[in-house]
Amino acid sequence: MSTSTTTPAGVLESLPGQLLIGGQWRDGRGGAFDVIDPATGEPLRAVADATAEDALAALDAAAAAQRGWAATPARQRAEVLRRAFALMHDRAEALALLATLEMGKPLAESRAEVAYAAEFFRWFSEEAPRVDGGFRPTPEGTHHILVMRQPVGPSLLITPWNFPLAMPTRKIAPALAAGCTAVLKPAEQTPLSALAIAQILTEAGLPPGVLNVLTTADPEPVGAALLTDPRLRKVSFTGSTPVGSHLLRGAADRVLRVSLELGGNAPFIVFDDADLSAAVDGAMAAKMRNIGEACTAANRFFVAESIAEPFTRMLAERMATLAIGPGSDPRSQVGPLIDAAGRDKVAGLVDDARAGGATAVLDGGPLPGPGFFFAPTVLTGVAPDARLLREEIFGPVAPVLTFRDEDQAVAAANDTEFGLLAYVYTADLRRSLRVVEQLEAGMVGLNQGVVSNAAAPFGGIKLSGLGREGGREGIGEFLETKYVGIAR
Ligand code: ADP
Repeated sequence: MSTSTTTPAGVLESLPGQLLIGGQWRDGRGGAFDVIDPATGEPLRAVADATAEDALAALDAAAAAQRGWAATPARQRAEVLRRAFALMHDRAEALALLATLEMGKPLAESRAEVAYAAEFFRWFSEEAPRVDGGFRPTPEGTHHILVMRQPVGPSLLITPWNFPLAMPTRKIAPALAAGCTAVLKPAEQTPLSALAIAQILTEAGLPPGVLNVLTTADPEPVGAALLTDPRLRKVSFTGSTPVGSHLLRGAADRVLRVSLELGGNAPFIVFDDADLSAAVDGAMAAKMRNIGEACTAANRFFVAESIAEPFTRMLAERMATLAIGPGSDPRSQVGPLIDAAGRDKVAGLVDDARAGGATAVLDGGPLPGPGFFFAPTVLTGVAPDARLLREEIFGPVAPVLTFRDEDQAVAAANDTEFGLLAYVYTADLRRSLRVVEQLEAGMVGLNQGVVSNAAAPFGGIKLSGLGREGGREGIGEFLETKYVGIAR
C-alpha cells in the first residue's frame, strides 16, 4: 500500500463518496452533505445524500439479488467474507485513520476497532457453512419432521456513529452469511468507514445488489420508505432507545423481523474482596474505551464503602493523566466527543449532578474549541435522582457511589430501565455466581472491563434491545425456520 493512502488526504480521496446501489456507485438525489471532523469542527469531505427514492432503488437491487445470493453455496458466501476479513487487515492503517478522522477516537483505539470489525467477517465466514436444521420423527410416529433454516430476505441495517467500522460489519457479516441481501444505512456523522467497508466487500467479490449503501443526512424518510415496502423482511438497528422503539413501531405494521441494540446504563460493581488495582484497570477500560461513547460504557460505579476512597483516588489519578487531543495525534488518549450536541449533553449531566450536591474529585468538563473536547471527570456524592444515573452519559464522566452490602449493590445496579451490560469485580466465586444470576443484563463482565467479542452473543434486555449479534446466535437473527411435515 502506498504511503499516500495512510495520510488524511489519501484516505479521504480514495473513497467513493456516492451511494452503492446494485453494484454501481451513484449520486444521491438529495445532493451531498459534509462529514465533519469532531477534532476541528471542519468538514472532512462530502458524501451523497440519499432520498426515499434512492432508498427504494437500493431495495429494488437488494430484492433482485436475493434469490441468487440465497442460492449461492454457503462456502462461496463464506469465502467472500473471508477475503473481506483479509482485506481489512491489509488496509488496517488506512481504515483506522478514516475511523479516527470522522469519529474522533484515538488511533490506537481505531486500530483495535479494525481488528474487532474484521473479526465479524471471519467469524461469520465460519458460521455460514454451519447453518443446519433437523430431522426427527413425531412422538406419535405418524410422520417425520424436517426443520429447515432459510434466509429471512432483504434486510435493512441501520448503524450508529460510535463504532463506524464494527457496527456495520457486525450486521453485514451475519446477514450475508445467512444468505440475506441488505441495505446499509450508516450514521450521518460517520458514513466514510461504511463506504470503505462496502468498497472492500466489492473487491472481495460480493455480487452486485447483495449489499447496498445509503448515506443520508435525513434518515427518517429513508427508513420510512423501506419499512413500509413489502419486499423488506428484516430491520437490524443499533442506536438510541427512542429511535429503536420508533423503528419497532414502524416495523409492526408489516410484522418485520427486528433486532435492536439500544442504549445501556452499565453498573460497575466493586466488592471489598476485589483486586483493587485490577478493578481500576477494568474501570478505565469500561469507562474510557471510545471516550466513554459506547453503549457498553460503565455509567455508574458502585464501590464497597470500605474501599471507595482508594478506588476513587486511583481512578481519578489515572483519568487525570490521560492526554487529550485529536485522535489522529498518536499521543492522544482522549479524543473529542462526536459533536457539539454530544459535548453539551455530557456537560449538562455533570451540571445537573453538581447542582444536586455532587463533588468533582476530578474536575474536568468541556474544553474550548476548536473541536468538541471534554476533559475526564470523576464525581462523588451524586444524588439518587441525578439524571446521569438514569441516562447514558456517553462521555468521560465517572460517578462513584458506595454500597454497604451485596443486596444493596444488586438492587442499585438493577435500578434502571436498561439492561445491556454489568461489570462485577470480586474474588469470591460463590458471590460472583450469586450476583451475576441476579443482575438484569444481557451481558456481564466478571473481573474484566471489556466484553465485546465476535464469538460472543452481544445484546441486552429491558430497554436495551431485542436479539443478539455475534456468537452462534448472531446468524439466527437473519434466518427463518421452516417445518416440513413428511408423511411416513
Ligand atoms: P445516536 O443518538 O447515537 O446518534 P440515533 O439513534 O439517533 O443514535 O442514530 C442511530 C442511527 O439511526 C443512525 O444511523 C441514524 O441516522 C439512524 N436514525 C435516526 N433516526 C432515524 C429514523 N427516524 N429512521 C431511521 N433511522 C434513523
